[in-house]
Amino acid sequence: MKIGIDLGGTKIECVVLSDSNEIIHRQRTATPKGNYSGTLNAISTLVQQTESIVPIDCPVGVGIPGTLSGETGKVKNANSTCLIGQALDKDLANVLNRPVRLANDANCFTWSEVCDGAAQGANTVFGVIIGTGVGGGLVVNKHLVNGNNGIAGEWGHNPLNHFPHESRDCYCGKQDCIETYLSGPNFEVRFTEKFDEHLSSHEIICLARSGETSNAVNAKVHLDDYARRLAANLTGIINIIDPDVIVLGGGMSNISELYELVPRYIKDYVFSDTINTKVVPAKHGDSSGVRGAAWLWK
Ligand SMILES: [Zn+2]
Repeated sequence: MKIGIDLGGTKIECVVLSDSNEIIHRQRTATPKGNYSGTLNAISTLVQQTESIVPIDCPVGVGIPGTLSGETGKVKNANSTCLIGQALDKDLANVLNRPVRLANDANCFTWSEVCDGAAQGANTVFGVIIGTGVGGGLVVNKHLVNGNNGIAGEWGHNPLNHFPHESRDCYCGKQDCIETYLSGPNFEVRFTEKFDEHLSSHEIICLARSGETSNAVNAKVHLDDYARRLAANLTGIINIIDPDVIVLGGGMSNISELYELVPRYIKDYVFSDTINTKVVPAKHGDSSGVRGAAWLWK
């Protein structure tokens, strides 16, 4: 059995994954915002409580926003900024009194889907998170790739290709990152900009499916534009690593139309006459990240 922890910006989730790959216990707590020692304590308490219910003593895998710097061994690129500059793996190993493995949350997501999810059995897989942010993870020859700078798969902060740039600022300090066009919140912002109506992503999708009114047509056009931008920018991944499977996760991956539109539009951009790359939804949905953290001890 393995313990997986997903350290998110608002909540910390802890699961026990059984030897038959079932989650046999799940517990959550709020993330102490901006409080590093509080975060360590919260994780320690979660593990203690878990082990009082499920009597186990096993290593812990943790998925984090950000990555460990190869140079300093400390966290970088985390949007939970209290983690930045901290030796989180060593500090957690100390408070938990056991070895701890740590990986970027999008890497955990991708690893989970390769281990026993939608990309099980595939050799080369690109995992994409399209949610509040946009991230990615890469598995090559069934190995999770961290990369020389610890940023393998960070596709969301490439500049958007194939479409005019609009000098849109990204929180990372750069402009026109893919995230500023393809995240869930930006799907809503762009709809408001184009059609002067504020709707949630869910409302836009419901409207697109609702019929032939002018509002429904606007929503359909917006969804189609999103799918085309996603396809065009996944093409950069396909032309370089040519994965067997692309797995989509995060809130936007629940839009079923994407699995028909994206493969169709990929053909317009990729450098190949035939495309065998599968584009599939994550099997484990929102649980993929925390399952992948546990699978770090595969
Ligand atoms: Zn960015």
